Amino acid sequence: MTARILIILFSFLVASCGEPADQQTRPAEDVVIGDQAGGYNYFTIAEIRTAAKLRQRALSGSGAYEILEELTTAAPSRLPGGPDDAKAVAWAEAKFRELGFDKVWIEPVTLQGWARKSAIAHVTSHDNLEFNITSLGKSASTPEGGVTAEVVHFATFEALVAADASEVEGKIVFISNRMARANNGAGYRPAVIARARGHAEVAKKGGLALLIRSIGTDDSDNPHTGAMSFNADGIAAAFQDRTGNDAWSIAYGEKTVGAAALSNQDADALQAIFEASDSVTMHVDIQNLDLGEITTYNIIGELTGSSRPDEIVITGGHIDAWDLGTGAMDDGMGVAITTAAVKLIADLPERPARTIRVIAFAAEEVGLHGGFAYAKAHGGEDHVFGIESDFGLGKLRELIPAVSEDAVPVLREIWRLMGPMGIGWNPDVPGFPGPDLIPLVQNGLPGAALAGDGTYYFDHHHTASDTMALIDAEALDYNVAAYAALLYLAAEYDGRFEAEAATENNQEN
Ligand SMILES: [Zn+2]
Repeated sequence: MTARILIILFSFLVASCGEPADQQTRPAEDVVIGDQAGGYNYFTIAEIRTAAKLRQRALSGSGAYEILEELTTAAPSRLPGGPDDAKAVAWAEAKFRELGFDKVWIEPVTLQGWARKSAIAHVTSHDNLEFNITSLGKSASTPEGGVTAEVVHFATFEALVAADASEVEGKIVFISNRMARANNGAGYRPAVIARARGHAEVAKKGGLALLIRSIGTDDSDNPHTGAMSFNADGIAAAFQDRTGNDAWSIAYGEKTVGAAALSNQDADALQAIFEASDSVTMHVDIQNLDLGEITTYNIIGELTGSSRPDEIVITGGHIDAWDLGTGAMDDGMGVAITTAAVKLIADLPERPARTIRVIAFAAEEVGLHGGFAYAKAHGGEDHVFGIESDFGLGKLRELIPAVSEDAVPVLREIWRLMGPMGIGWNPDVPGFPGPDLIPLVQNGLPGAALAGDGTYYFDHHHTASDTMALIDAEALDYNVAAYAALLYLAAEYDGRFEAEAATENNQEN
């Protein structure tokens, strides 16, 4: 994943900083058609009524929980090239067919495969204390048998960058920055740079290995994994050549080191040791596998539009997940929510005007490979609106448009169906339609974000605790209600959405 992609990817997290939506949600039976005052300018009453029915059906049981339970049971370990990758593809293809979508197919996504093997850390200077660590995604290995060396502590990635190479050479580096909790996930971007780029700085300065405090808001003993990035090239270059050239070991000629995250409990303990000692020595042994070039698949389901079949509304989530948990939250949930929403639309007596595609994207976590592969294959088609589900736990916070100024009132009209559910409306920040849609957004795809709640999301993100235990069926139904209404109306809307002019802003933030 390029630094630029990371920047774009994280910009949405810092971008949505409006007031939290009114958390009070009415029970399903009280939800009304919407704020009727002023009538509707962009949709017929029949269309609004249909959207309201979709919402109501979702709230009374959308089936998303069952879909998610099936996925995480059939294919709990969905790292590309991992044990259940092929099972996940087979499951999704069969599920899309079972749900009655008009067209279902899969498309290959090729990338450099990576697998974790083992990661061990002992504080040899202090009772040989053993710490709980996990390799960062795409981490190289330390030399066989590990390394034993003095540890140098930096409070932040920036402090590591500013340090003289002589402070790092021959040492193990510990970066202790803590991610801040926020309902919009704003703490992620400033913290995650340590995970993404710390390894390259350590290697550049002659360090032996990298340990970071987990990029997470919890105080648990679960370390958080997540991808390292290997080059600082722009998204355009990545788009051109997305077939495994960002090999995890030495990518784009960039040096790297073995890198792992400490659980936040153990990061606290290591910091406490540093407060009491002038010298800390550790033994760190990180071993991982380069699987070589592997092929996984995007799974695509389509409802073909009744009158404008060549105009495509695109949605989905990413089906791959980190290997420590079962990826129920990140992002099995996104796949289940959007699949259930499209199923509700499929059950209507008539197809909407436009085509709706739901995509279970491959290999997002390790570098947005599925999104790039889709854009490469379909970038020339007429995608008119996009929204992916890949952030948040529980109910939604707000709808954020990612369309031109003149189309904002159209989305506000759609939002009137969501207001009674307690979903806020926030046109004041740039909307981020989703990580796998980045290449399409860069080429002018308009869309929106249904921003999730990040308050507790990063307690579990990329950890062993990302399992069905986190998932609330009612909250999934609530998500499906919003997605179904939005997708249906976007597919029916008579006009054309244009992308917001702020795309460049998203890119550089
Ligand atoms: Zn995700």
